[in-house]
Amino acid sequence: MDEVIIVGAGVGGLTLGLALHQAKIPCRIFESVPELRAVGVGINLLPHATKELAALGLEDALAKVAIQTTDATFFNRFGQLIYQEPLGRAAGYDHPQFSIHRGDLQMVLLEAFRAHAGADRVVTGRHCLGVAQDDGGVTLTFSDGPGGKERFTVRGRVAIACDGINSVIRKQFFPDEGEPRYSGVNMWRGVTRWKPMLSGASMVRAGWLSHGKMVIYPIRAAGSDGLQLINWVAEIETPNYRKRDWNREGSLDDFIGPFSDWHFDWLDVPAFIRAADSVLEFPMVDQDPLPRWSFGRVTLLGDAAHPMVPRGSNGAGQAILDAKALTAALTEIPDSVAALAAYEKQRLEATTRIVLTNRTNPPDAILREVFQRTHDRPFKTIDDVISREELVALSDGYKRIAGYSKEALRR
Ligand SMILES: Cc1cc2nc3c(=O)[nH]c(=O)nc-3n(C[C@H](O)[C@H](O)[C@H](O)COP(=O)(O)OP(=O)(O)OC[C@H]3O[C@@H](n4cnc5c(N)ncnc54)[C@H](O)[C@@H]3O)c2cc1C
Repeated sequence: MDEVIIVGAGVGGLTLGLALHQAKIPCRIFESVPELRAVGVGINLLPHATKELAALGLEDALAKVAIQTTDATFFNRFGQLIYQEPLGRAAGYDHPQFSIHRGDLQMVLLEAFRAHAGADRVVTGRHCLGVAQDDGGVTLTFSDGPGGKERFTVRGRVAIACDGINSVIRKQFFPDEGEPRYSGVNMWRGVTRWKPMLSGASMVRAGWLSHGKMVIYPIRAAGSDGLQLINWVAEIETPNYRKRDWNREGSLDDFIGPFSDWHFDWLDVPAFIRAADSVLEFPMVDQDPLPRWSFGRVTLLGDAAHPMVPRGSNGAGQAILDAKALTAALTEIPDSVAALAAYEKQRLEATTRIVLTNRTNPPDAILREVFQRTHDRPFKTIDDVISREELVALSDGYKRIAGYSKEALRR
């Protein structure tokens, strides 16, 4: 009855569970799927997030399964280098940037939570249908998985919706919100086993959305065959899209055309795409920021609170920062309702800025500037197109908004 009830064992829910357990606040996580498996493809964790995960004692476990990313490198679609900057520890941060398989991240969090809090603290096959509340607490209703016939109720002190972009609890409080907002860009995502490219730990962005953009970075170290698992995302402006589903299979023919002549000295892109283990298709969507997340004893966290287009490597990171802020509020403020309101006050405005900036000026604005100024033609030298100072200012501006400038983290 004194427990914090967490809905969803994704990145946000599990991090919150670990943080609450560390703060000695009892909690239980209820997850829709019958069994948690390592699904998804690549994700990046920037130093503001890895700092929090290190405080939960997870840095070594993550370093074993992730790549410590050393540089961000930008090219045009002719393979010309536009800009390169160091990342994570290589840039002088106290914590690394990790490029990691989403499933590996989820499994590290899950194993740590089960080991510390107890395996019975995560209950799978419980799909949340809704939440009610009274002066004494919350009552959540679950079915035995999506579409399941059985019903279960659970009482708790507060309920935290960490149920992702299709959040049932968000819909309960905002029934007229409608479907997520399509950005006009469709994504095809995959992983390919390939030999290390560039530094072997580079995060590459190339091209531009109107003619095809690629994001490429390794997420698992090379095995005995010398091949890394390399994550890639092809992003193309596309008027129509099929319904969102994290696991929808994509077809090569739908997107490989714009990349067919991308033969660079550091990568043969069409050959690399064709060698993929699998291809997933997902529309780039977000939601307009909400006016509030907290309703008495219930609040939203992570993608349930602020789904954002994945153009700044901040989706998982902001869920992790939410978990830290909410744990601090519940630790410091004895009244549960006041604690959830304080959490919202600290995080809503900050994440709203990121959601909106990801639409207009994420780090790949560097590619847009060069695309527009060169009218999509090769350049002689990049200095004729854009100065180093402008490139640095574009990159640093996003870091400040997303809260991971070096100065902010040292503070
Ligand atoms: C299957 C899957 C694959 C993904 N793949 C990628 C990827 O490849 N790259 C990327 O950048 N991001 C991916 N994401 C999204 C990414 O994990 C999030 O953007 C980010 O980490 C924020 O985490 P979150 O905890 O808010 O949401 P999520 O990580 O999406 O977690 C939400 C959790 O809630 C559970 N859930 C949903 N509805 C209910 C319900 N009604 N009752 C109980 N539990 C519920 C889900 O099963 C999931 O475990 C994926 C998400 C999912 C669910």
